[in-house]
Amino acid sequence: MDTELQRVIRFIEERDWSQFHNPKDLAISLSLEAAELLEHFQWKNQSEIDTYLQEHKADVAEELVDVLYWVLLISHYLKIDLPEAFDHKMTKNEAKYPVDKAKGKHDKYTAYE
Ligand SMILES: [Mg+2]
Repeated sequence: MDTELQRVIRFIEERDWSQFHNPKDLAISLSLEAAELLEHFQWKNQSEIDTYLQEHKADVAEELVDVLYWVLLISHYLKIDLPEAFDHKMTKNEAKYPVDKAKGKHDKYTAYE
């Protein structure tokens, strides 16, 4: 079975779409899909979101997958090992937000330096 990335690459290759792909347009596409995710929540308070999700959770999931699709594709084209990059960035985040200082708080990391 293909990984998610392999499936995205096959999808692109079968359609000969890589000719249209460059980092700028891929990043724009990622941002547009993130905006489509936002549209589901725009103008709704938490109670309205809770109600909305009862019927539209699958729609929200599709937007998350659209975002993931572009993340995977960008990392592929830029030859970024995403699991490795994820591990590296989370290690940085863990150092920036030490549990003993950040637990239960929402300050920016500069508050903990
Ligand atoms: Mg979408």
